[in-house]
Amino acid sequence: MQNIDLHIHTIYSDGTWAPNEVVLRAKRLNLAAISITDHDSVAGLKEAMAAGKKLGIEIVPGVEMSTDAGEDEIHILGYYLNWKEKEFLAELEKFQAARAKRNRKLLKRLKELGMDINHKELKGFAARGVISRLHIARLMVRKGYVSSIGDAFEKWLNSGKPAYVKKMSVSPFQIIELILKAEGVPVFAHPFLSRRDDLIPHLVKAGLKGIEVYHSAHDSRATQHYQKIAQKYHLLITGGSDCHGEAKDKVLMGTVKVPISVLKALKKAAGGEILSV
Ligand code: AMP
Ligand code: MN
Ligand code: MN
Ligand code: MN
Repeated sequence: MQNIDLHIHTIYSDGTWAPNEVVLRAKRLNLAAISITDHDSVAGLKEAMAAGKKLGIEIVPGVEMSTDAGEDEIHILGYYLNWKEKEFLAELEKFQAARAKRNRKLLKRLKELGMDINHKELKGFAARGVISRLHIARLMVRKGYVSSIGDAFEKWLNSGKPAYVKKMSVSPFQIIELILKAEGVPVFAHPFLSRRDDLIPHLVKAGLKGIEVYHSAHDSRATQHYQKIAQKYHLLITGGSDCHGEAKDKVLMGTVKVPISVLKALKKAAGGEILSV
């Protein structure tokens, strides 16, 4: 029985592998389908689709967007959206511009704190696409300012820490609306990391269609818990590793077993003619 992985980042956001390499590795792991879910970007989808076609792996178009609910971060995944639609791309550009602004402020803050990372260096390091705090954390490790990525977040980059700079504020409700407008399926990503189950009924009312039950940060208890929540609110169950290539301590692709039945239900919910291999 083959598995799938519906949550993977590439170099178009904070992963370390090009879409081609992601697809090749997925093939080696015998995955039947994967989704590329870069932060605020769909730029890697074209390359991934072409590679998927060549290698016989189904590619689900996806995106991951960060939102806030008060002090908490809620990430929303969007699947099967019209990723070539001009209005949707224009919206993504707004988020990318806000990130660029935030990153400049963040580097300034780090400099004040005695950690010198310049913008050129960061851009060169990220190479392509959207730059996240993970790129900055990795550079902080590389330059010896912190001993690990975890340290960079816990000491400096997390909300409430000295180098934290907020991005453009957007609510999960606005992002659900945006994804629905692009005819995508909005899914609550790794809910166990947000710990905001209280929001779920409100998100469902706003049009949330699914919840990421299987995730590398979900232990078996969390998985069971969100399975029950999915049942209660009639939400689709999705899942993925949230692999960032080699950017995190561990390569995560292949570590979370997501059954292929998940894809069938997701596709059905997306409706219409779906491109497959
Ligand atoms: P941003 O999207 O710029 O807010 O950056 C958040 C990204 O940093 C997430 O997508 C994760 O990939 C990564 N991240 C956040 N917290 C941690 C952590 N404690 N350890 C490793 N990576 C993290
Ligand atoms: Mn990330
Ligand atoms: Mn996320
Ligand atoms: Mn992710």
